Amino acid sequence: MKIVVALGGNAILQRGEEGSAEEQFAHVRSAVARLADLVARGETLLITHGNGPQVGDILLKNECAADMLPRMPLDVCGAESQGMLGYMLQQSMENALSARGIARPVISIITQTQVDPLDPAFSSPSKPIGPYFTREEADAHGAEHGWSMHETGSGGARFRRVVPSPEPLDIIERRSIGALFREGFIVIAAGGGGIPVYRTAEGALRGIEAVVDKDLAAAKLATAIGADILLILTDVPGAYLNFRTPEQRLVADVSVRAVRRWLSEGRFAEGSMAPKMRACMRFVEGGGTTAIITSLDLVEQALEGGVGTRIIP
Ligand code: ADP
Ligand code: MG
Repeated sequence: MKIVVALGGNAILQRGEEGSAEEQFAHVRSAVARLADLVARGETLLITHGNGPQVGDILLKNECAADMLPRMPLDVCGAESQGMLGYMLQQSMENALSARGIARPVISIITQTQVDPLDPAFSSPSKPIGPYFTREEADAHGAEHGWSMHETGSGGARFRRVVPSPEPLDIIERRSIGALFREGFIVIAAGGGGIPVYRTAEGALRGIEAVVDKDLAAAKLATAIGADILLILTDVPGAYLNFRTPEQRLVADVSVRAVRRWLSEGRFAEGSMAPKMRACMRFVEGGGTTAIITSLDLVEQALEGGVGTRIIP
């Protein structure tokens, strides 16, 4: 089967960790071991991944070095994170496959995701990124760079930059990605939702300060390359109704219709589970066979059925 796997950012760098290369490599290797088992079963994989913690660190480095080196814009930071995580995933997958005696080429692709600069998301930035700032720093950044700042939590440094999270319209590299995927290459693409770009009036691509949701980008790409299954791997066994209440219950096999209704009723949290459910719904509506939300350690059972959340036509 042709499977697009979306790996959660938290699967690679956990909250409260230092974020050393060794730590991140260790998480990547254990995630990749599970995925290599799927390849050993004969599946064809495309891997997309989150990049929130990694871009957060890159932005913090930007701030720390601001009086020595120019700040890099968000699109360039996104490209950096794709390169870094692509490298870790690619090397780890090559090692995991060769340890299993499998000769399958692995490649990561710097990926751009086209967005509409008139997307309503641009008038209400909602996605917090990068380090926390004090009120004075936040005001200074707002004035100097035009950043939108959002007050979160408590304490001295409690302001964060927020950026728009527009809809993915198209994956610019989808033809290259699709050709490699159909050839049976293990492709790593659209990391962090892809680098958001738009087309100028002359038709040129340009980066834009935004973040595309990685699950929505994964669905767009999965549909574009004709995948059978979209597999969203996160840190919970599946999607729950009434999450974190006494009435909490796991959503098992569910139709697109039920998912659409629950989404319109706001039954899932925006910024975490709602975009995953939306991504699954779109993928199945777009002709995909099944979309699955589960955790990394349940991946093989989830493909058999019986665990996790499965969205079907
Ligand atoms: P990822 O990096 O995998 O995209 P997210 O933090 O975006 O991770 O989404 C996973 C998180 O969503 C879980 O850790 C869980 O706390 C949260 N969550 C919110 N609502 C739900 C829900 N209805 N069912 C399950 N998890 C939920
Ligand atoms: Mg997420």
